[in-house]
Amino acid sequence: MTSFHHLGLPETLLSAIEDLGFEKPSEIQLESIPLLLTEETDFIGLAQTGTGKTAAFGLPLLSYLEAQPAKHTQALILAPTRELCQQITEQMQAFAKNISGLNILSVYGGAAIQNQLRALKKPQQLIVATPGRLIDLMERKAVRLDRLSHVVLDEADEMLNFGFKEDIDRILQNSPPSRHTWLFSATLNPDLKRIVEEFMNDPQEVRLSRPNEVNRLIEHEYALVMPKNRTEALCRFLDSEPNMRGIVFCRTKMDTQKLADELGQRAYRSDALHGDLSQVQRDRVTNKFRRHELQVLIATDVAARGLDVQDLTHVFHLNIPDDFAYYTHRSGRTARAGKTGVSMALISPRDEFKVNQLSKKLQIQFKNRSIPDAKDILRGRIRNWTDQILNTDTGKKKNHKLLNEVLDQLEDVSREELVHRMLILEFQKLRAHSDKDLNAFSEKRHTPRFSGKPMAKGKKNFRSNRSAGPGGKSKNFKKRFRK
Ligand code: AMP
Repeated sequence: MTSFHHLGLPETLLSAIEDLGFEKPSEIQLESIPLLLTEETDFIGLAQTGTGKTAAFGLPLLSYLEAQPAKHTQALILAPTRELCQQITEQMQAFAKNISGLNILSVYGGAAIQNQLRALKKPQQLIVATPGRLIDLMERKAVRLDRLSHVVLDEADEMLNFGFKEDIDRILQNSPPSRHTWLFSATLNPDLKRIVEEFMNDPQEVRLSRPNEVNRLIEHEYALVMPKNRTEALCRFLDSEPNMRGIVFCRTKMDTQKLADELGQRAYRSDALHGDLSQVQRDRVTNKFRRHELQVLIATDVAARGLDVQDLTHVFHLNIPDDFAYYTHRSGRTARAGKTGVSMALISPRDEFKVNQLSKKLQIQFKNRSIPDAKDILRGRIRNWTDQILNTDTGKKKNHKLLNEVLDQLEDVSREELVHRMLILEFQKLRAHSDKDLNAFSEKRHTPRFSGKPMAKGKKNFRSNRSAGPGGKSKNFKKRFRK
């Protein structure tokens, strides 16, 4: 196994990486770091988000910077969004924690420029910026690019999508011709190729993945549900796996807010992230999500861009985006750092053909999931509860006095009776779900070729719609436990 120690990084950076808990380099790091450390070259890295790009360019970049006595700005990292700038800055600061005298500043739009102007009065050897705000600061003569040795364009394709093409041109035109340009992007479209031709010098290239390639650790699933039942279906999935944590993608800001309100009314730990929120509100929501205070974030594609949140078990799509690259982007929010994750589309039967198209286009297999009913949810929750009991760390010290007191109190209750009573208490904590079957008909009425869960011929993709009334099945289930 190649470790970071084999890549030629200085000790100051190696100890910082170790403190961050990075054990082995990711593929893009393995390919890029030795090359960027040993060759003073222009560079193109083609890799998706979440592959460890920041360290791939950030660690070599730090090894080129002179913290002292040099005080001028030596390197610039451009990124499309405020969130990404903040994340890159945080990571760079963590990598650089053992380099004294090195200042790293993040400047981006949507925040007060006065604070940034003030910070720029101090020497900042590395600036991380969104292109628009940097131009603004250049015009105010607060930033000088004339002594840059490196410019990194991160998520270059996204920067062009955001309309930063002219700003990027201007920034590169104002940087010294001797500087090196490192460009990172998921794709290399014609506009980017033009930037490469115009501003880069014989770049070395590392291509990690084909454009649009989807992380193989993601399981792709879909469930058919009529639009009017979609929120309830989502709630059932959320309830069926208590450790689930994810992002729900909606098409519009309005859909996003509406769903967040509905989930809020049902007391789910959820909130919305969309373009109508102020920057302060957006920061508050993302921070709550990062701190695990929210179970789900409901977001539009644009609002979620650049959001780096780890440990997401699920991504939900409440629509299949017309541009399939968005599907890949969304799904890539889960299954990070070697973990597995589920990307699930909750769609109406008339959109099932889009799943087929996605499957062919991205060469992924979809599993057809049915929507959990009350019994499934109850089983899932109780299984989880039992696991929790079994995995509880009892610590070294037992409080024997208290334990004996409780044991005495429970002396006359059998083991079975005790578990039964504990189950009843646990049931009371669960949300009630109606017994209504929410699985919708497949319009095609045959097993899709791409389905990971083939249905028997003639068997319908839904259970009987006969309702036992609210809580019907779960009551029966409870009764069985109560006997
Ligand atoms: P990036 O693609 O640079 O945004 O990185 C995605 C996430 O993976 C970040 O939260 C990093 O801290 C984390 N990460 C990057 N490289 C490694 C690594 N070699 N080992 C573990 N985590 C990593």
